[in-house]
Amino acid sequence: MEIIDGKALAKNIRENLKKDVEQLKEKGVYPKLAVILVGNDKASQIYVKSKNKACTELGIDYEEVLLGENTTMKELLDIIDELNERKDISGILLQSPIPEGLDINEAFRRISPSKDVDGFNPVSMGKLCLNQDTFVSCTPYGIMKMFETYNIEIKGKHAVILGRSNIVGKPMALNLLNRDATITICHSKTKNLSEITKQADILISAIGKKNFVTADMVKPGAVVIDVGINRTEDGLFGDVDFENVKEKTSYITPVPGGVGPMTVAMLMNNVVKAAKQQQE
Ligand code: NDP
Repeated sequence: MEIIDGKALAKNIRENLKKDVEQLKEKGVYPKLAVILVGNDKASQIYVKSKNKACTELGIDYEEVLLGENTTMKELLDIIDELNERKDISGILLQSPIPEGLDINEAFRRISPSKDVDGFNPVSMGKLCLNQDTFVSCTPYGIMKMFETYNIEIKGKHAVILGRSNIVGKPMALNLLNRDATITICHSKTKNLSEITKQADILISAIGKKNFVTADMVKPGAVVIDVGINRTEDGLFGDVDFENVKEKTSYITPVPGGVGPMTVAMLMNNVVKAAKQQQE
């Protein structure tokens, strides 16, 4: 059993990106991320802070647009239009969730595909579906990087994904399908879930329930990737009962220190990619 060290891997990626940013700056290209935060969601404030910190570390310029709880859809779309137009902005990220009553899909649709560093625009998702080069959403992209770095074989493997969100589950499935895995996606209406998970060579949990994946649900030798982030009074937990599951696996990600740091690193990767593409 090997524990996948997402923290170390992410650090490595960030160090390489830092060099890319320096080279771009020598050519007069200054990558810049704009983050839009609407409302007062506490978890979002933590995520935004970590994105700001990562940008600062890499020398990527950063701008935060803070909008109140009562922001209208028109105001939000106007801000996105403005950021789309601005030549100094390489990438735009709209932090989810946004307050009820605002349509996040309409907002994602408005972000220019050339600046869609989160990969949530339908154009980016459509290209992923067609296996064309695009901005891949950061969490699945980070997981694919983990597989690549640890030489984990995907081709022909049965990957079971728990969760079907547009942010994690669906793009995760498409990424793996594009790499020749056989895919099963499970969700809250799935019947006999543990019968399915027991068949997984690769099991990815993106549900948001502490200790949801228990040892009896895991095939011996499986690769287990824990996307879940569950904040409790006792600290941060994933979806997987890590202590009991880990001995059954060939590879497993911890929480914290697994998928989370990779997500931020891949966002930085996408901002640098956007800056390069816009320069070209
Ligand atoms: P969503 O709430 O959008 O999706 C959760 C999914 O889990 C849904 O598809 C839901 O099914 C499914 N689900 C819920 N309960 C069950 C159940 N009992 N059995 C099977 N499926 C179930 O969450 P996200 O995809 O946005 O995030 C998932 C988790 O990953 C969260 O903990 C989030 O915090 C974390 N996360 C972590 C990131 C990281 O960088 N590490 C990045 C993004 C998210 P249905 O569709 O039927 O409702």
